[in-house]
Amino acid sequence: MGVNEHVDLNGFVEGVKRRNPGQPEFVQAVQEVAEDIFDFMGDKVKYHEAQILRRIAEPDRVVSFRVCWADDKGNIRVQRGWRVQNNNAIGPYKGGIRFHPSVTESVLKFLAFEQTFKNALTGLPMGGGKGGSNFNPKGKSVNEIMRFCQSFMTELYRHIGADVDVPAGDIGVGGREIGFMFGQYKRITNHFTGVLTGKGLEWGGSLIRTEATGYGAVYFLQNMLTAKGMDVAGKTAVISGSGNVATHAAEKIVQLGGKVLTLSDSEGFIHDPDGISQEKIDWVKELKNVRRGRISEYVNEFKGASFHGGGARPWGVACDLALPCATQNELNGEEARTLLKNGCIAVAEGANMPTDLDGVHIFKAAKILYAPGKASNAGGVAVSGLEMSQNSARMSWKEEELQEMLRDIMRGIHDRCLEYGGQGGGYTDYVKGANIAGFKKVADAMLAFGVV
Ligand code: NDP
Repeated sequence: MGVNEHVDLNGFVEGVKRRNPGQPEFVQAVQEVAEDIFDFMGDKVKYHEAQILRRIAEPDRVVSFRVCWADDKGNIRVQRGWRVQNNNAIGPYKGGIRFHPSVTESVLKFLAFEQTFKNALTGLPMGGGKGGSNFNPKGKSVNEIMRFCQSFMTELYRHIGADVDVPAGDIGVGGREIGFMFGQYKRITNHFTGVLTGKGLEWGGSLIRTEATGYGAVYFLQNMLTAKGMDVAGKTAVISGSGNVATHAAEKIVQLGGKVLTLSDSEGFIHDPDGISQEKIDWVKELKNVRRGRISEYVNEFKGASFHGGGARPWGVACDLALPCATQNELNGEEARTLLKNGCIAVAEGANMPTDLDGVHIFKAAKILYAPGKASNAGGVAVSGLEMSQNSARMSWKEEELQEMLRDIMRGIHDRCLEYGGQGGGYTDYVKGANIAGFKKVADAMLAFGVV
């Protein structure tokens, strides 16, 4: 043992709280990981001595900047932008950009921290980062979105690069916004490189990137069910959100013979007891991506469905499978209990940290199949990693090849979780498995670098 004080879990969490005042989401994410890692590190002095967890929980850097833009009426608007570069021990920083009024430094630090473990789990060489702004894209014209994206990139460009930091989309940032940002990057630097992922197919994008997070989450769910001799076919699923991740998770559930009962947005959820078919999912995609409408409009189009407003969440609808695919902390302890009471057997997180700490403890205690986002939603960043490889080699893989690679990667993540999360008696703690497998890879690389 070196001279460093060997703190226990409580001391560590208290220190994180003290050093990060007013950042509850970040503290929550670190605490969830620390609970498992302290267990794992118990007899491994090298990680304690090198203060590895403490170092991963201190971002390499947080860049914060002003983003000015003019709205259509000529008013000058001022937003804040950030890029959190958490850790690049195993590859360039990699993680999405989020545009949402709820974005704060705390939210982006939690996402960048989680991303570090998730990216390690994929087996691809990617570090962890995340960025965004408190800009609200809702109700803005296309020109306003373009001007904002250009202004955001006018500062961000100096902090990123194909071998430095490669952002992608997230909440509020889809193909359109990536296009505006890539255009501005190219205009400023005169470089056509793979500096962003989630690009259009004509300008360096990868097939199946759009579908990858939602599809990957269902592949992970399928792996968990298969390990127990079960299947998605014939099961009912409750899904939250109606964006990129939610609609593609719904699509894959339907393709595998399951029945999707709900979708939601921040105003409430729709419940369709007849099941949300592929045709209905296509209608929702058009509603959200083209008309930029609200999920409540679903009930005008499809009879038999009901809308539950006031920000209601879908977890009270009885189901076999639950997939939270909207945002952080959208499923609390009470809702976790309701899901269990109604017979839910498996939860796969499409969103990042959608279940709060209470809910996580309840799912773990009930020993159901519960996949944390850092494992089950890693399909998106995995295909982003494949987009980076295609850009470097200036080539593109076929759709079937990429589908197979995505399935393989999700199976690999599942197996890594089994390796470190097996608890005996046939129960796998997937949260623990994901945390330890992700930590070990990053930690061992950091040990090799010495004190940096
Ligand atoms: P989108 O912007 O496409 O969709 C987000 C959905 O979540 C919308 O339906 C939105 O409703 C809803 N939502 C957002 N904020 C809230 C809130 N505070 N309360 C209730 N509902 C909310 O984003 P994505 O589908 O890309 O992302 C969803 C989640 O998946 C996020 O946690 C993201 O970090 C995670 N993720 C995404 C990946 C990707 O590849 N896109 C990769 C890995 C994880 P509304 O329109 O009303 O805001």
